[in-house]
Amino acid sequence: MLSVEKAESIIFNLVKRLDDRQDVERLDLLSASGRVLAAPVVGSMDFPHWDNSAMDGYAVRYADVRHSSPERPTVLTVVEEIPAGKPPQVEIKPGMAARILTGSMMPPGADTVAIQEETRRQGQEVEILAAPREIGDFVRHGGSFYRAGNPLLPAGIAIAPPDIAVLATAQCLEVPVYRRPKVAILSTGDELVTPGASLKPGQLVDSNQYALTAAVIAAGCEAVPLGIVPDDPGKLKQAIAHALSVADVVLSTGGVSVGDYDYVEQILTELGGQIQIKSVAIKPGKPLTVATFPPSTSQGDSARNLLYFGLPGNPVSALVTFWRFVQPALGKLSGLNHGFLPEFSFAKTQQDLRAGGQRETYLWGQIQSVDSEYQFKLAGGSHSSGNLINLAQTNGLAIVPVGKKIIPAGEMVQVMWVK
Ligand code: AMP
Ligand code: MG
Repeated sequence: MLSVEKAESIIFNLVKRLDDRQDVERLDLLSASGRVLAAPVVGSMDFPHWDNSAMDGYAVRYADVRHSSPERPTVLTVVEEIPAGKPPQVEIKPGMAARILTGSMMPPGADTVAIQEETRRQGQEVEILAAPREIGDFVRHGGSFYRAGNPLLPAGIAIAPPDIAVLATAQCLEVPVYRRPKVAILSTGDELVTPGASLKPGQLVDSNQYALTAAVIAAGCEAVPLGIVPDDPGKLKQAIAHALSVADVVLSTGGVSVGDYDYVEQILTELGGQIQIKSVAIKPGKPLTVATFPPSTSQGDSARNLLYFGLPGNPVSALVTFWRFVQPALGKLSGLNHGFLPEFSFAKTQQDLRAGGQRETYLWGQIQSVDSEYQFKLAGGSHSSGNLINLAQTNGLAIVPVGKKIIPAGEMVQVMWVK
C-alpha cells in the first residue's frame, strides 16, 4: 500500500497542464473572473499614465514655496483650476499656482503639490502655510507604478478582482484563459437512487454525485454528472467508456473495494487503462484507484492522458480523497502555476484525536482562529466514513500520522484546509 505522500507525487507527475495554445479561449474581461490566465499580460501604457496629484491642493513650484511657514506664508497667484479629466492649459511660472484635485494632471512648470489643509485661499491668491517635505511631494509621477512593456500579470494565475482591475486599466478587453477541464462523475451501486426518489428498503440516496459535482465546480472545472450506474460489469464498462470519451478526468465512486460487486479495476484494465494506484495508506479512503488512459487519436497532438479516479463509495472517503488528491490534480490540470496544493497549518486540538496507527488518518471538523492561534474542533458524533451528517460545515481535516494512535487534547496537530 502506498503512503499518502507517494500517492500524491505519483498523481502529480501524471497530471499535465492544459495546453497554452489549444486549450485556450478568449473571454471578455468580466467573464474571465475566476478563470486561469493562459498568457502573460503586458501593458502598452505607463501607469500612472501621466503626472497627477495625489491630493486636493495647489500645484506649485517647489523653489517658490520651500521656505513657507504659518508665520511667513508664500503668496501665489492662482492661474487656473484643473478639474479631474481635463488637461491643464497654463504653464506654472514663478509666483503662480494652479488649483488641483486628486487625480488631476499636473500642469507644466509645477513639480509639487501643496495640500489644501496647509493653504489659505484669498480670492485669486493662495497662501502656502507650510513648506512641502521635498520636491515632488504629493505628485504621482507617470510610470512610477508601472512601465509599459513590463509584465503586468503572469500566466497561470486565477484571475481575482484586483487582477480584473489591472486588466481593465491595461485596456485588456479580451483575456486568454484556459478552458475549464471537464470532469465526468459516475456513481456506482445497485443500492443507489437519486435524491428525488422515494426510498425502498435497502436503498440509499446517491449523495456522492452531488457532493462531487459541487466540489468539481468549486475547483473551477466543468462538472459532467453522468448519474448512477448499477453494479453490472457490462453497463459499468459502457458507462466508463462513455465518461472517458467526454471528459479530461473521470471520477467514479464505489465499486473499488474488494467486495463481490467491485468491478471497477477490472473494467479499467479491459478498457486499456493503466492502473497507477490501487490503494493508499489513508483513512478514510484506502481503496483509492487511479488509472490513466492514452488520449484517443482524434484529440490531436497535444492531448494528454485521461485520468481516472476510482474513489471509495463511502461519502466521507469520497470527499476526503477528492480533497487530498483530486482537487490539487484538477488545479494543476487547469493551468494554475501555484495555489493548487493542499494548504496545511498547525492547530491546537480541542479533543483527543484517535487513530489506528497503520494509515495516515484524516479526522474532520473545524479550524477556528482563537486568540491569534488556530484551534481544531473535532466534529461531534461518529467518525465512521459512512457518516456524512457530521461532515457538514467541515473546513479542515486533522491529520494523525502513521505510527500515532492518539494526539491528546491541547497538543498541536497538522491540519489541512478544505473547501
Ligand atoms: P462501495 O465502495 O461501493 O462498497 O461503497 C461503500 C459504501 O458507500 C456503501 O455503504 C455504499 O452504500 C456507500 N455508497 C456508495 N456509493 C455511494 C453514493 N454514490 N452516495 C452515497 N453513498 C454511497
Ligand atoms: Mg458499491
